[in-house]
Amino acid sequence: MAILVTGGAGYIGSHVVYGLVEKKDRVVVLDNLSSGFRDAVAKQATFVFGDVGDVNLVSGLIAEHGIDAIMHFAASTVVPESIARPAAYYANNTVNSLALVDAAIRGGVRHFVFSSTAAVYGNPTSQMVSEEVPTRPVSPYGTSKLMTEMMLRDVASASGLTYAVLRYFNVAGADPFLRTGQSTRAATHLIKVAVQTALGIRDGIEIYGSDYPTPDGTCIRDYIHVCDLVSAHIKALDYLRRGGPSVTLNCGYGHGYSVHEIIAAVKRVSGNDFAAALRPRRAGDAVAVVADSTRLRELLSWTPTFDDLDTIVAHALAWEEKLKLQ
Ligand code: UDP
Repeated sequence: MAILVTGGAGYIGSHVVYGLVEKKDRVVVLDNLSSGFRDAVAKQATFVFGDVGDVNLVSGLIAEHGIDAIMHFAASTVVPESIARPAAYYANNTVNSLALVDAAIRGGVRHFVFSSTAAVYGNPTSQMVSEEVPTRPVSPYGTSKLMTEMMLRDVASASGLTYAVLRYFNVAGADPFLRTGQSTRAATHLIKVAVQTALGIRDGIEIYGSDYPTPDGTCIRDYIHVCDLVSAHIKALDYLRRGGPSVTLNCGYGHGYSVHEIIAAVKRVSGNDFAAALRPRRAGDAVAVVADSTRLRELLSWTPTFDDLDTIVAHALAWEEKLKLQ
């Protein structure tokens, strides 16, 4: 048994690979390094350079390594970019995922863990979002992921494949041992940008919208430490391998922070003050998105280890300081 991890050189994938090799799973990473980094991949894993949509390559890897499970992280993930370049998002996220799922079925792969996103919910009517909330994405990114979820569901019901769709809320932080982290220097995610600003890597931060119907006018998100996401993946795969039926799970803590609160936390933890400019709303942003993660907690006995904003920020800061020195 071995696990094929697509996008295993990327931010979340590289953390999960460390989690898997630590428990002695055999791991093959497939990554085209379009946004990932070769040196982010744990040395115990086999690294293969290539595209998820390359059916011949994927089929060969499944056969050669005896792959029984795929964890599929490889994707384009920036919401505003997806609005500007929708076709590229459907090609990379949806079309390539279809090729991968098809190769998986034909190769006899048993289990599939898919990186989905809270963006599938769009602008949810309730702030607490359970998996039963209707999916109405408001960006091509969210739609491209939802389409893959639907393909997986249909393909699984026509085959023996079982899957876990993990809908990530806002992932942040870094490996506490700093073996890997968010290495994309130009990443646009709030905690990354705020941490870079605190360290003087960026000149200032812009707050996209301060007139939202929230207590301080800025958007609310549920920020989850990347290492708690690692444990969700490992538990999800264990569950599938034990014979659990396909499942969709929200991955978040169940409480949210506003943009102002995140910026205040980064100032507090770093000890550095910095400018934050109020700007108009950004296209495609939902007002408040917080996970109801009851199903993840109950079904997989998942309990977070790093559910503390200052810890998340401290780890993000430590990683960014390390990157700055490279
Ligand atoms: N945001 C911001 N300034 C930034 C980056 C993000 O005000 O430089 C806001 C963004 O508009 C959203 C929240 O922070 O309300 C989280 O955005 P992010 O891009 O981190 O994640 P998303 O929720 O879009 O996946």
